[in-house]
Amino acid sequence: MKIIKIFLILSLVLSFGLSVDPGYAQSADQKVRVKIFHDAPVFIVVIKGDYTVREYKSDRILNYGKKLKAKVAGYKGGILLAGRYLAANNVFIKPNGPEEPIEINGKRFKGGLQVIKRDGVTLSLINHLRLEDYVKGIAVRETSHYWPIETLKAEAVVFRTFALYRAEQFKNKEWDVSDDVFSQVYGGMEAERYRITEAVDATKGEILQFDGKILPAFYHSTCGGATEDASVLWDIDLVPLKGVACGFCKDSPHFSWKTTVSKEKIRQLWEKNGQRIKKINEVVIAGRDKSGRVSNLDIVTDQKDIEIAAKDFRNMIGPDIIKSTNFKINASSSDITFEGFGWGHGVGLCQWGAYFMGKYGSDYLKILDLYYPGSNLTKLSE
Ligand SMILES: [Zn+2]
Repeated sequence: MKIIKIFLILSLVLSFGLSVDPGYAQSADQKVRVKIFHDAPVFIVVIKGDYTVREYKSDRILNYGKKLKAKVAGYKGGILLAGRYLAANNVFIKPNGPEEPIEINGKRFKGGLQVIKRDGVTLSLINHLRLEDYVKGIAVRETSHYWPIETLKAEAVVFRTFALYRAEQFKNKEWDVSDDVFSQVYGGMEAERYRITEAVDATKGEILQFDGKILPAFYHSTCGGATEDASVLWDIDLVPLKGVACGFCKDSPHFSWKTTVSKEKIRQLWEKNGQRIKKINEVVIAGRDKSGRVSNLDIVTDQKDIEIAAKDFRNMIGPDIIKSTNFKINASSSDITFEGFGWGHGVGLCQWGAYFMGKYGSDYLKILDLYYPGSNLTKLSE
């Protein structure tokens, strides 16, 4: 209960609007299901201590023992494990000791492993692990463990919240998150680092909520001066995600960028997306939203003018080439030069802004309050 007192004092003194609601229904023991391999024909699993293999849905024990070092593959009637034919298409392999890792193709993971056999004989591997362990595993890929501790704490809350948001969204699917850039990049136990573990432990179970629901705590590298309103990009209209001014990321290495793309290249990419154009004459900014980002563009061709949303245009050219939709355009006869600010979609936490806030002495509550105004910090029950 110590932590609640600390928060109450902080919110009184600094009027952050952040408070703790300990009565949240989900618990800190919440599991996250991470898809780690898809369409794997065969893999090697190693468990050094006691283990159990169960049928996933019925919980029926299929196999158990001490020390597992096995080749796992699919066969017509089920899953082949260490030379034994298990008549099941969905199994769960788990070390009996709660802290005992499971090694999959040489990489160590916490928790257990669900193996689903697909049509044919390929396998999907889904790692089930505690939310806290998942946050430790992804944080090192999504941030730098050299960053200020208060920044890392703010990020730990954000990563945890975002993982729970995804888990809620995908609860009826086979997994909550995948270990690639489409959700958060998860690296297993090898990815854990001391200072990140410290930041995750210091904020254990803390998540952001708004209006009694888990906040979709989006984040990005650098906003470039102002964060984006989520409703511009997605069907998410929430007070904490309406966009704020950020005066902290000016010294981010991604604050400004410049790139030149030929009109012919744009034409080719457009064609790849299924629309035939003979020649692009101009690319014109057709509108900006209140954060200053481009909302749509007019592509002037020799046949007709085509309007496209800036986010779709960015995805078509490549989100790492057009780093944000906050840009201006300079054109020559053959090329378009984009000069822009920031990197990423711009919604929620600006990570480089959070870095400089932490560096200049802000604590994590102040960081979260700037980027998610009106949200509540809640602690999952133990
Ligand atoms: Zn920023």
